[in-house]
Amino acid sequence: MTGLGKGGVSRASAEDGTTGEARWQKICGRLRTEVGEPAYKSWLMRVTVKDVRDGRVRLAAPSRVVRDWVLSHYADRIRHLWSGEEPGIHKIEVVVNAERAQVPPVPEAPAVVTAQGSEPQRDPAGMEDRADGLSAPLDPRFTFGNFVVGKPNEFAHAAARRVAEANSVPFNPLFLYGGVGLGKTHLMHAIAWDIRNRLPARSVLYLSAEKFMYRFVRALRHQNVMAFKEQFRSVDVLMIDDVQFISGKDSTQEEFFHTFNALVDLGRQIIVSADKSPSDLEGMEERLRSRLGCGLVADIHATTYELRLGILQSKAEQIGIQVPPKVLEFLAHKISSNVRELEGALRRVIAHATLIGRDITLETTQEVLHDLLRASDRRITIEDIQKRVAEHFNIRLIDMSSPRRARAVARPRQVAMYLAKQLTSRSLPEIGRKFGGRDHTTVIHAVRKVEELTGTDSGFAEDVELLRRMLEG
Ligand code: ADP
Ligand code: MG
Repeated sequence: MTGLGKGGVSRASAEDGTTGEARWQKICGRLRTEVGEPAYKSWLMRVTVKDVRDGRVRLAAPSRVVRDWVLSHYADRIRHLWSGEEPGIHKIEVVVNAERAQVPPVPEAPAVVTAQGSEPQRDPAGMEDRADGLSAPLDPRFTFGNFVVGKPNEFAHAAARRVAEANSVPFNPLFLYGGVGLGKTHLMHAIAWDIRNRLPARSVLYLSAEKFMYRFVRALRHQNVMAFKEQFRSVDVLMIDDVQFISGKDSTQEEFFHTFNALVDLGRQIIVSADKSPSDLEGMEERLRSRLGCGLVADIHATTYELRLGILQSKAEQIGIQVPPKVLEFLAHKISSNVRELEGALRRVIAHATLIGRDITLETTQEVLHDLLRASDRRITIEDIQKRVAEHFNIRLIDMSSPRRARAVARPRQVAMYLAKQLTSRSLPEIGRKFGGRDHTTVIHAVRKVEELTGTDSGFAEDVELLRRMLEG
């Protein structure tokens, strides 16, 4: 092997004459691709080789912060790479380069107040203030009291309650997942409010994964990652919302992984939400995925008609306006995508009536929501449903409208009819017509049959749920 650089004779580190510095540059090149450009620039770029002696490499870091970080994050990897290049290397040390040593920068944001109460005067005004901009503000409407419980969310709700009320950590993490607008954020805020009211001394940190990343990147840039770490490690309850956001963001994931482990080791509660289950989170490192899934995973399912109706009744009550049951039923039927849209629709109907001083009726509702209803009709067509369902059950599309009655085609057809009823605003006769000119009673029968089966056969229920998600997604 030829030496990469012959200049640094005094630091020549191996029989082949390669200098330690040249070796380091080579290893750094590897690390650079492994850890990504931002991390490389923040931590490794300014690290140099001090000496290589007796199987030990001494690196020099420009500051204590960098030294600590490199030691805790990269030392093992560096040792591995180095011993691959130069057998016999068994130890990596990092020292602070004396001439350039500097004091670690002062943290930008003050640390979160911990349960031990390291700050003499705790601000009783609320966690938004206590966490000093670290915690995102909590929505005062997102409480357990305002959360309507139904079949699709009862498990997630019970799990959230359990975490809020427990004095120790019942499961770690609590992983809440479900589609958009189904109440994940609402439940997380509810937990935070509950703990805050019951145990005001606890520090609860609620943050979107996006914010987490933003803060991390900022800490990297300002070289105060240690302060960042300390802040996150001093909380009692950490909630990260929409964790799917850090999919594919490797160094943020890495940092989150370390924060996560540190908090679990300290016995602190972690609550995470995402739009998918841990195993379905693409672009997420395997070890993080498995960590996320090792506590309690609670799924919030798509809303049912009953739940939507319940939510509408509760919201109307909160707003303090009498809305005719017919209107609420209509909305619960037509707007099935998610709760956020449902709420928006109700608000529009109420605002309209209040503004022009007219009663809320079915007609005014249809008028006001005209665009929304059209859009929701357009969103999913019976043809889409038939196609998806046929693909899923591996039958021919024409069997959706064929007269064949064999179970293998009849069942998928019933599922498709059921989904058509659930996901479109087509009437029963219209649906029947699209399925080879069948009668509306056949559609009613199909809907009942599917409802019955989803209650008794969980595998079947999952199939239907999956199809619904695919169609709605
Ligand atoms: P996600 O975080 O899952 O996207 P959110 O928690 O932001 O959804 O919920 C969207 C809206 O729907 C919020 O205004 C929330 O209060 C409301 N919401 C969702 N589920 C329920 C429920 N079960 N009861 C009352 N309101 C709900
Ligand atoms: Mg949310």
